[in-house]
Amino acid sequence: MEIIFATHNKGKLKEVQAMVPETIQVISLDDLNMTDDIPETGHTLEDNALLKARTIFQLYKKPVIADDTGLEVEALNGAPGVYSARYAGEPSNADKNMDLLLHKMQTTTNKAAHFKTVIAYINAEGKEQLFEGTVDGEIIGEKRGSNGFGYDPVFMPIGHDLTFAEMSMDEKNTMSHRAKAWKVFSDYLHA
Ligand code: IMP
Repeated sequence: MEIIFATHNKGKLKEVQAMVPETIQVISLDDLNMTDDIPETGHTLEDNALLKARTIFQLYKKPVIADDTGLEVEALNGAPGVYSARYAGEPSNADKNMDLLLHKMQTTTNKAAHFKTVIAYINAEGKEQLFEGTVDGEIIGEKRGSNGFGYDPVFMPIGHDLTFAEMSMDEKNTMSHRAKAWKVFSDYLHA
């Protein structure tokens, strides 16, 4: 079976191909020479993942997966959430996003936060399903570490004393939101 992954990101494609059963061939938008921008105008991670998957399903009428991820901070009522990539404005800048977040967190004692990844899957018959993975943690007061990307330097998962940016990629992948979400999806396909 072939599944289209609604992404142009080669790194993500490789990760996902390694996680799904071998009988499934994951192809990207680049493999289809699809260069159009896909709308990401939803107000929730679920909306955005579904929007992306539906756009591609309508074009190709083949099984599609799409994902969306955000950092949800309790004291900020779930912000930056679906707006994580561009929290401090366009163009997307991880350092500026973290600076804004640290500034907003200065006066709060509740540091609880989680990353959440949502995967939308539309099968060959057009049936839609959502899968998710989360990791709980807290926002620390300064940036620590240089691995990873995005908010990794300010996020410390519960039960650990290293931020995601201080962990190796392999260690992060044993507990990350993204890895968990793809595992749930992959288990579903295996079943
Ligand atoms: P995307 O949906 O995977 O493109 O993620 C949206 C945004 O969420 C990214 O631009 C990052 O700011 C943030 N983000 C997603 N995953 C991670 C992660 O594993 N670590 C840190 N930040 C992340």
